[in-house]
Amino acid sequence: MGLEGYVLPGGSVMNCSYHTDREAIGMCVSCGKPICSGCKVSLANKFHCNPCAEKLIASSAAAPVAEPNTSRQGKSAVVPKEIRGWNWGGFFFTWIWGIGNRSWLAVIFGIISAVFAVVADEYKADSWISLTFTVMTSAVIGIQGNQWAWQNKKWSDVTHFKRTQKRWAIAGLILFIIFFVL
Ligand SMILES: [Zn+2]
Ligand SMILES: [Zn+2]
Repeated sequence: MGLEGYVLPGGSVMNCSYHTDREAIGMCVSCGKPICSGCKVSLANKFHCNPCAEKLIASSAAAPVAEPNTSRQGKSAVVPKEIRGWNWGGFFFTWIWGIGNRSWLAVIFGIISAVFAVVADEYKADSWISLTFTVMTSAVIGIQGNQWAWQNKKWSDVTHFKRTQKRWAIAGLILFIIFFVL
């Protein structure tokens, strides 16, 4: 009976589950088996037996790895599927949104649309022509906006992207309501 021996509440000494000739010095925190000093594996300051330690390491290695951040990698960047879809901020703010999101195509479309509106007005064209053109260019930005913004600007992650685009959308909606009321 060594001093290090794992003493059961009853006072008896237990041997290692893996080495019946060696005295246990403690219990594995995972499975509760008594283990000797040669068997113990220390993980995060807790003792485990070898099989349990291996299982823990394997499960932590199998844990899902975060998707790589592909933002601001240009045209070839894979856009995460979570952010695919319509962009209201781009639709409402066009070139302003484009500058804020480094999406230069949105800036170009927005400016073309504005120039067209001015020209149409100059030539006293029916207002619906100008309106249709504005809505069409805005729609292009609405459809493509998320992809452009992701590929051209650095975002810390998808959550960051979504949060920012939501703010643009809310601001756009407020602007639209004010415009509509006036
Ligand atoms: Zn164990
Ligand atoms: Zn052992």
